[in-house]
Amino acid sequence: MSLFDKFAPLQNRVDLVTKLINKDPLGVKFDDIMSPTRGRIGNREIILSGTNNYLGLTFDEDCMDAAKAAIDAHGTGTTGSRVANGTYTEHTQLEEALADHFGMPSCIVFSTGYQTNLAAISGLTNENDIIFMDADAHACIIDGTRLTGASTIRFRHNSPEDLDKRMSRVKDKKGDFFVIIEGLYSMFGDIAPIDEFLDVTHKHGGYLYIDEAHSYGVFGPTGCGLAEEQGVMDRVDFIAGTFSKSLASIGGFCVSKHPEFEIARKVMRPYLFTASPTPSNISAALAAVGKIRTRGDLRENITARAAQLHKGLADLGYDLCADPSPVIAARRPNEAICAMEWNWLLENGIYVNIAVPPGTPQSSSLLRISISAAHTEDDVNQIIAKFAELKDKQGELMADMMKLAG
Ligand code: PMP
Repeated sequence: MSLFDKFAPLQNRVDLVTKLINKDPLGVKFDDIMSPTRGRIGNREIILSGTNNYLGLTFDEDCMDAAKAAIDAHGTGTTGSRVANGTYTEHTQLEEALADHFGMPSCIVFSTGYQTNLAAISGLTNENDIIFMDADAHACIIDGTRLTGASTIRFRHNSPEDLDKRMSRVKDKKGDFFVIIEGLYSMFGDIAPIDEFLDVTHKHGGYLYIDEAHSYGVFGPTGCGLAEEQGVMDRVDFIAGTFSKSLASIGGFCVSKHPEFEIARKVMRPYLFTASPTPSNISAALAAVGKIRTRGDLRENITARAAQLHKGLADLGYDLCADPSPVIAARRPNEAICAMEWNWLLENGIYVNIAVPPGTPQSSSLLRISISAAHTEDDVNQIIAKFAELKDKQGELMADMMKLAG
């Protein structure tokens, strides 16, 4: 018996895929990243179409200049948590800017989006409380619920009716109800009916927490996300987000309409016991918040490109998981064929994500695309053209798969 015996089933999956495509699809290495939409592997230029770089700000001059200036002013790292090493001016500026953007009194910044969910969920709840979590919740929401003593009840994906039923069934409520949903779901690209979730949550006296990791910057008249787009932002209790997508940096945040949220800073372990974000990460994100507030044209572009791509793929007959949004995913029959198709696209200049269980809802295997405001109409036409060629190759790839898989 070895410590590693438990990995045998996983090793078999990896071996099969490696046999089929001669590489690890979860370990792609780029030799260069030249822009938000272009990378290079060897001498092949690749259109990046799976980066979550929704507004294309990673190469924005103002964001880059802000990051460089912060290094010059305050160095490359904070070397510890804000509790141990103190708060930098940048941390406070960003918290104020985000609170102002959302029109909420409190904001706390974290080192990653992942840690934001760990910290907020575990810090805001205890063993008396009950968490109600959407069935398709992201891994870091699930992990957040594992760090708290609260019990967790899952409700059917995007179903306020099912949430209502489950909240009604609770007898002997000791603590509070804490309901967690996402704005735009990262795998299928479907969106939550936030208004209805607010009605149900508040009817039962609960608090609504929305992870807008994939929607902040992309939706809403000023880019605050889907709660703003749906006109209900002032009713939401907590909105979390990440800096790693629209904000083109690393880190995360949670804003709240409850000023008392501030006290949670003193108890959230993933905030207390890890290094705070670097001045350059924070400054890039701060510059990006400014862009989000003012650059409605980026939102117009991403919406137009997402609609173009969605229509192009739907016309080709791809089975798409949701209506148009910056996340567009096509269901594939199984993991092996999905890997072969993903590899064919990469070898033909298009990088998309391969998404497989347990990271996907309904155990699906997906070719997942995230569109960027930096994609041009021509980029999207090129992506559609390659998916069209892929359609013609599917028989051949299937035959190869049968042969290679034995
Ligand atoms: N929430 C959601 C819904 C996500 O999809 C992700 C990551 N893709 C995160 C949080 C974590 O964000 P980060 O990668 O910035 O830690």
